[in-house]
Amino acid sequence: MDIASISAAISAVSGTTKLIGSVIDGRDSVKLNELKIAMNDHLLQLSTAALAINEKLIATQKENGELQEEISKLREQIADQSHYQLHTFPTGTHAFKDSRMEPTDRDVYFCAACMAEGKKAILQPQGLVLKCPKLHPDILISIPTPLPAQIIRKNRF
Ligand SMILES: [Zn+2]
Repeated sequence: MDIASISAAISAVSGTTKLIGSVIDGRDSVKLNELKIAMNDHLLQLSTAALAINEKLIATQKENGELQEEISKLREQIADQSHYQLHTFPTGTHAFKDSRMEPTDRDVYFCAACMAEGKKAILQPQGLVLKCPKLHPDILISIPTPLPAQIIRKNRF
């Protein structure tokens, strides 16, 4: 039942109440009982409509609470991500660094792909690449230099 139906039921109750007043004035007990039944029917319709609206209100309040929680998490995530700056390696690849950390010989980098997913993963150095623990593609941080033996073999031709 919607608001229009509730308004119609309220109008019906109001009209029935006026009729009851005129019947009471005339002291017609049969008509009074008919009106009493009609009034109870209208009140039942109103109660049913009120229950349906209350259920919708509860569902809406629950959904609102969930959305507020999600907004709060996203705001925290945005505030946290503002502390990270994108770093570009000489190879043109990227990773994030925590701007709050002091520069050291062993800088800590975070996976940009994980950050895009709202997660944080510390990249692990392994040779010339940084590896994501969530298995995103390796990040090449420096260009490999050929080994002297490769240079020698190459120059034999
Ligand atoms: Zn990753």
